[in-house]
Parts: sequence; C-alpha cells; structure tokens
Amino acid sequence: MSGDGVVVVGASLAGAHAALELRRLGYSEPVTLVGAEPHLPYERPELSKGYLAGEVTLDRLLVAPATAYPDADVDLRLGVRAVDVDSALRRVHLANGETLAYDALVVATGSANVRPRIDGLDLGGVFSLRTVDEAEALAAAARPGGRAVVVGTGLVGCEVAATLSTLGLCVSAVDPLPGPLWTALGPQLSALVRGWHTEHGVDVISGTGVAAIEGAGHAERVRLADGRVLEADVVVVGVGARPVLDWLTRAPLTLAAGGVAVDAEQRSDVPGIYAAGDVAAVTAPGAPQPRRTEHYSSAVAQGKRVAHAVVGLPMPSPQQDWFWSHQYGHYLQYAGEHGPDDELVVRPEPFAAFFLRDAVLRAVATVDNGRDLRRALRLIGRPVDRAVLADPGGDLRTVA
Ligand SMILES: Cc1cc2nc3c(=O)[nH]c(=O)nc-3n(C[C@H](O)[C@H](O)[C@H](O)COP(=O)(O)OP(=O)(O)OC[C@H]3O[C@@H](n4cnc5c(N)ncnc54)[C@H](O)[C@@H]3O)c2cc1C
Repeated sequence: MSGDGVVVVGASLAGAHAALELRRLGYSEPVTLVGAEPHLPYERPELSKGYLAGEVTLDRLLVAPATAYPDADVDLRLGVRAVDVDSALRRVHLANGETLAYDALVVATGSANVRPRIDGLDLGGVFSLRTVDEAEALAAAARPGGRAVVVGTGLVGCEVAATLSTLGLCVSAVDPLPGPLWTALGPQLSALVRGWHTEHGVDVISGTGVAAIEGAGHAERVRLADGRVLEADVVVVGVGARPVLDWLTRAPLTLAAGGVAVDAEQRSDVPGIYAAGDVAAVTAPGAPQPRRTEHYSSAVAQGKRVAHAVVGLPMPSPQQDWFWSHQYGHYLQYAGEHGPDDELVVRPEPFAAFFLRDAVLRAVATVDNGRDLRRALRLIGRPVDRAVLADPGGDLRTVA
C-alpha cells in the first residue's frame, strides 16, 4: 500500500455505500468518491414511483445526508466523470484533467439506459429515465389528460406506465415481448401484472415493437411495427440498461455477463481493481457462472462487501438478491432466478408464487405479502415440500 487510498468511481448506491463502509470499518487512508452527476449520491427506485408522482423529494432519496461525507472524511467529487484508468500505474484520469492515484479502485459506474434504434428519439417530448434530472423533466411534461406512450414493459416501463396513469394521463405501453415483465416474471405472473394495468385503463400492447416516433420537432405520434399509430404528447423509452464500462478500455479487465467479472470478494482479475453494483458480474462460491444483477439490494450489499475486502475483514454473509416494484399500490417482490421450464406453485391469497425445479425452490414472487417473501428467501436453493407451499395456511418455516 502506497498511502494513496481508495478511489471509488460512481457516486451512487454501490459507490456511496462502499466509501462510507470503508470508514465505518476503520479504514484510515484517503477515500475519494467520484461521480458524474452533480447531485449527492441518491437512490433511483423512487424515480419511477413516488418522485415521478411528485410525492417524494430528492432529499428523501439521498443515500446519506450531505454531512455524512465530510464527517467520514470522504472526498466527494461530484459533476466530474472518470475518463480513463492506467491500471499499471494505478491512476484514474478525470474529465477535468485531474489524475487520482489509488491503492484500490472501486468500479461502481452502474448502468446506462439502452438507446434503441428508433427514428425520432431526439424529438422533444421523448424521455428516458435513469437520473433525477430525467425524472424531473418527465414529471414536468406529464400533464393530466395528456397522452403517453411507454416503450418497453420491463420494470421501469411498467412503473412509469402505472405512475403516469395515476397522474391522469392516457397511457399505452408497447413491447415486442408477449406480456409485461415477461422476462423477469414469466407468463403467469405477467398476466397478473397486465390485469393491474388494464384495470387502470392502460393499453398494454404486446408482441409488436415501435418503428418510429414522429412529429414536427416534438413527438406527436408513435408508429408501431404492425402499422398501428398511437397519438402521443409524451414518449418514455425504457428498453433496458447496459453496464457503463466505456472509461475502462485501457484496463485489461475480464468481462462477463456484460459487466466486470469479479470473485465473491468483488475483486476483478486486475490487481487493485474491484467492482460493485450493476456493473459487476459476480461469481459466488459454487455458482456455475457469473451473475450480474440490476437491483438495489445487490448494489448496497456489494458496495459493503468491497469495503470488507479492501480492509481485509471477513465478508458479510451472502444475501439472496431480491427486487421490488410498486404499481397501483401493489407491492410486488421477487427473489431468486427461475427458468422457463420451472414448475409454478401458486398461493392465491395472500399471493405467493414459487418456482420449483426438481423439487428445489428456485425463486419466489409475492404481491403485498412481505412475510412469505422473507420466509421463502431462506428456502431458495433447498428442496421443499410442494404440498406446504401450495397450502395457503401452510407455514413456510416448516416447508424445507
Ligand atoms: C427508474 C429506476 C427504478 C428502479 N427501481 C428499482 C426497484 O424498484 N427495485 C430495485 O431493486 N432496483 C430498482 N432499480 C435499479 C437500481 O436503482 C440499481 O440497481 C442501482 O441504482 C444500481 O446502483 P449502482 O450504484 O450500481 O449504479 P447506479 O445507480 O447506476 O449509479 C452509477 C453512478 O455512476 C455514475 N457514473 C457513470 N459513469 C461514470 C464515470 N465515468 N465517472 C464518474 N461517474 C460515473 C453515474 O452517473 C451514476 O451516478 C431502478 C432503477 C431505475 C433507473
């Protein structure tokens, strides 16, 4: 160690947790947290929910209060992008010309939204949603009575459709896949989510994509691949995300699942470089392949794990990743990873769906039923008694 300390690039969920956890664990060398956005590190999930609805303000989204960083002696550099890394000399170059030396570099640059090849993306009234500034711009354009077309019915698309509809817009949501949240949840649960949307008047158009967004300077209509045309004042494009790796081209990092390949201690194969959050593809002990997740819970846990690895402390016990979604007042939660051929066992009320392969629980999804989610978390990867799962009164604590 040269005394250069830790440079964390990406001042958001994983990065801020890594920086603050280093100090909590007693790390005494310099800690610098570099972020491209001008805002204090904040949490994104509410951007498509309460923040877009005008119910939550930015100060409620902060990972930690402004004072937490000076109090922890974390040197916070906001509004500046890292543009290059020299991993042999252990230096990070910033867009403002500064160079930061490091003993350990934490790559926490998260995801950027995918920009699909659709004509008209640059028209006024076309939005993407990843940052608080984008959420603010969309909120300002979302006027009750307006017509909105949401392109993509993954998690963010579904939530935006639900929020805009609740705000009084007339919403259509379009996706070439057969149903909303199809990849994340599978056909049966997709049908459940479709029901929520149609109940609230959202037109969910599945099985066709968007050919073009048209208008004179501003979006006026969306032309679908099947020839249909939807009138639009606001178009929101949410077709997925990809890890932000463009500033790492000179570091000879191994990539996996689209991200930086790391071991269970978040260490890459380049000495001194760690990765955490959306950008990291983690190979857990005993896991067949690296896995990259784009979830709040994993970004927080991995940020903290990096700090433990840097300080040389034992890793916190691994946690099962899970995510949630709020739509029309429903609280959907999902943990694990299912496959298309898994058997589905459903408890209707309170709703829980269990995905089984060879009598082993692979994944669980619940609606307004945090208790079953919490209990099932401990069962994932273990053989389970199908009859107890299917019985609405069956106690999940006795199921394994
Ligand atoms: C609208 C929305 C809703 C979501 N809802 C949910 C939800 O309900 N549940 C859930 O589990 N997850 C949700 N997520 C996903 C969750 O927010 C992410 O998994 C999480 O933010 C990942 O954290 P991260 O720190 O890895 O990356 P990010 O939060 O993406 O942060 C990366 C940061 O790095 C910065 N950066 C990028 N490149 C550079 C560079 N070169 N130099 C300096 N800084 C850079 C970026 O500006 C950004 O601030 C949602 C995401 C979005 C966008």
